[in-house]
Amino acid sequence: EHLLKIVFVGDTGVGKSSILLRFADDTFSESYISTIGVDFKIKTVYFEGKPIKLQIWDTAGQERFRVNYSHYRGCHGVMVVYDVTDQTSFENVPRWLQEIERYAREGIIKMIIGNKCDLVSQKVVDPFLAKELADSLDVEFLETSAKQAISIEEAFISMVRLNLNQIEEN
Ligand code: GDP
Ligand code: MG
Repeated sequence: EHLLKIVFVGDTGVGKSSILLRFADDTFSESYISTIGVDFKIKTVYFEGKPIKLQIWDTAGQERFRVNYSHYRGCHGVMVVYDVTDQTSFENVPRWLQEIERYAREGIIKMIIGNKCDLVSQKVVDPFLAKELADSLDVEFLETSAKQAISIEEAFISMVRLNLNQIEEN
């Protein structure tokens, strides 16, 4: 069985813990989910009939741009999350990506996730700009909602697909 280690980064409050909870437990909470240090969940998904075990690490938000080498150790993929209603969280995406460049192994699969897409009237980040950024870095981009379970599964399946493609190429 394949094991893929995936980690979340992104500003506090963008919904990292909520995405993980939705994916692993299919639940949602309106309140801020406190993360003590780092915490991970395991979920097995099936990709082309093969079981892939995902070990997904959450990150406490306080570690603003302060995640380090140990955070990415053995890591296959990283989801950089912003909140579509929070411009600053989007502007910080390149800074998170720089951290990844600095600390993660070369070739780690990166994705950009714009969460809270259910908050349509409060949306301030144009998805075309996010897509443009993602394209320029050759990474995938998705808008998600942990609250309404929009594209959460898809995000993880994309992560699995990108990883397996990379393994095949090498
Ligand atoms: P984290 O700091 O990145 O782990 O963010 P949390 O998962 O703790 O979420 C912060 C707040 O945003 C909480 O009040 C969540 O209920 C809320 N939240 C998270 N995801 C969504 C979403 O998809 N839609 C909406 N409307 N709220 C969300
Ligand atoms: Mg959290």
